[in-house]
Amino acid sequence: MFSEKFIKVLKSAQSVTVLTGAGISAESGVPTFRGDDGLWKKFKPEELANFDAFIKNTELVWEWYKYRKKLIADVKPNPGHYALVEMENIFSNFSLITQNVDNLHRRAGSKKVFELHGNIQKNYCIGCKKEFSDEIIFSKLEIPRCDNCGELIRPGVVWFGECLPEDQWNEAEKATRNCEIFFTIGTSAVVYPAASLPYLAKEHGAFLIEINPEPTPVTSIVDEFLQGKSGEILPELVKVIIKK
Ligand code: NAD
Ligand code: ZN
Repeated sequence: MFSEKFIKVLKSAQSVTVLTGAGISAESGVPTFRGDDGLWKKFKPEELANFDAFIKNTELVWEWYKYRKKLIADVKPNPGHYALVEMENIFSNFSLITQNVDNLHRRAGSKKVFELHGNIQKNYCIGCKKEFSDEIIFSKLEIPRCDNCGELIRPGVVWFGECLPEDQWNEAEKATRNCEIFFTIGTSAVVYPAASLPYLAKEHGAFLIEINPEPTPVTSIVDEFLQGKSGEILPELVKVIIKK
């Protein structure tokens, strides 16, 4: 399944950085943006996942997020997430950058995780930034409002058109510049700035590996394209690395 050259590179590496997207959670049952999302399919994510939509259509946007929060709370990490936890234990310098908001990497046990697009299990007030638990969100039928300043409470995710959390982005860039191997897994590599990371890794001399059932815009520059599901390929990869 893996070439000799590839196995050699893997076994000699100390520092590894991984970028994941919605595809790594697909086998857990979290739909990707291109997946079939039932009744929500009639909306494009860009139409709901932005601040203007939230202000104009607060009830609808909250309904979508409550649906996604419930869906995500009910699923479990899959063998792909667990394989990345093992890799964190194997490589002395390992960083995991995710575009996912589903918290599944942490639930699987990954420790060094940079969340570029926030976390759907968090919520905060748009006025005073006070944080609120999902318990509070689900305890009310009406649109959730801050008990401190009365402003709207929003999901703790980064919406289209918003800046990424600066600390997470800076750490992600640093880990990308300083790794020997860079994996891009389950991401369509079209949402910027996250999609720029594989190119940055390449520029700094990293060996680039992609895992995806489909080719993406990044495929043409990777050193190794492993075509298939991350929940199947990653556990195989860990087996190969462990046989050091
Ligand atoms: P995307 O939906 O654009 O692309 C998903 C990619 O995963 C595709 O390239 C697809 O071929 C691949 N894929 C599908 N099944 C796979 C599998 N089993 N193994 C490996 N790859 C698989 O997702 P994206 O690139 O992450 O970008 C879209 C944005 O959507 C991100 O900003 C992210 O925050 C958000 N999002 C997050 C979640 C989540 O948290 N789970 C879910 C949907 C969207
Ligand atoms: Zn407030």
